[in-house]
Amino acid sequence: MTNIQDLRARTPFSNNRRSISRVTHIARHHSATEQGNFDSFMDHWRRVRGWGTGGYHEIILRDGTVQRCYDYDQITNGVANYNPNIYNICLVGNGSFTAAQEKAFEERAENARKVFGLSASRVIGHNEFSGTNTSCPGINMNTVRARLGDGKGPVHVSNPPNASTTPNVTVSNSIVDWLSKNGVDSSFANREKLAAQYGIANYRGTAEQNTSLLKSCKVVPVKLLLNQSLKWLRKFSIKNMVMVTITA
Ligand SMILES: [Zn+2]
Repeated sequence: MTNIQDLRARTPFSNNRRSISRVTHIARHHSATEQGNFDSFMDHWRRVRGWGTGGYHEIILRDGTVQRCYDYDQITNGVANYNPNIYNICLVGNGSFTAAQEKAFEERAENARKVFGLSASRVIGHNEFSGTNTSCPGINMNTVRARLGDGKGPVHVSNPPNASTTPNVTVSNSIVDWLSKNGVDSSFANREKLAAQYGIANYRGTAEQNTSLLKSCKVVPVKLLLNQSLKWLRKFSIKNMVMVTITA
């Protein structure tokens, strides 16, 4: 099992959030450095580029440790013009990566594919986005995709993805949309709390967990409703056609 360092509670963030149903691709990057980690990269991004948010959701260190830097619904700065629609994963290295890193990438790309409901063909390298001119990610993505799961072997991306095209993907986990629609904080942290309340252990935001969380929130909204105003409760009950009874 991959070692995960969760940095999400302390990473600086000044970009917008998005609905995770907007994510159409998982982008692979390399750091183009031999060493480094979130803090050293963030220092560079802040000083040189003036960024208030990091470039990647996840960073895979040389020993295969994964730094989780941002939630699935946070927009990072991986590929200019595409960021609202992509999930960025970076391997530390300059065109050459360790076996531990590749193993971790496979695991994390598969996790992200499940979260966003994407096929292996949607896992693409930075330089496969049209309009980019970079050597990143420093690897032939066909060999990377061939190792990823839907059993179809190598996938050739003949049409460079375009951020403006509508993804032909069905994302079943609309918990984020549903919560936002109902005026409830849809951040990962709050969903984690809700999941715990509904008995969903070890919430990591997988498609399966999101589906079951959505179901729980719809069927048993009572706990979700705690701490909400009466005005909100009224709106909620009308919108969702449920009867709200306060028993405690
Ligand atoms: Zn890149």
